[in-house]
Amino acid sequence: MEERTFTIIKPNAVAMGVTGRIIDAFLQDGFRILAMRLVCMSRNDAEKFYAVHRGREFFSRLVDFMTSGPCVVMLLEREDAVAELRRLVGNTDPARAAEGTLRRMYGENVTRNAVHASDSVENARMEASRFFREEDIVVARYEPKEE
Ligand code: ADP
Repeated sequence: MEERTFTIIKPNAVAMGVTGRIIDAFLQDGFRILAMRLVCMSRNDAEKFYAVHRGREFFSRLVDFMTSGPCVVMLLEREDAVAELRRLVGNTDPARAAEGTLRRMYGENVTRNAVHASDSVENARMEASRFFREEDIVVARYEPKEE
């Protein structure tokens, strides 16, 4: 079933200059981009985004990292988007991520793991709504118009 999911190309990947390669991996895997934006998260944004992890020992490290530079936020669509994106992104810990996954290729450690992928359709919708308004979402078909 067609689904939407939400992703963040995290600050380490943007700083490494691999944004284009990661976007290309999404497109090659059959995802369509419905919305995309370069953002610098405030501490408040990052704390709210990762609110479920408040109180964990890594929380402040995670917030420091997510606010350390720009990230690219995207709303993506394809069949089984949530599961398929998590497969492509790989294990939270890059050292445990399968060969060929984005975290294996571009993650540095469990915090600086290059890419976020939502874990459910409901969370994807909630997370995307922090960054995109309804009118930012492009649902036009991708086939080029005939002249
Ligand atoms: P995922 O992003 O794979 O869904 P989680 O929701 O568990 O993983 O964690 C959110 C983010 O918090 C991770 O992507 C990672 O950046 C960071 N994180 C998770 N667990 C740890 C940890 N044990 N130590 C440091 N950072 C962590």
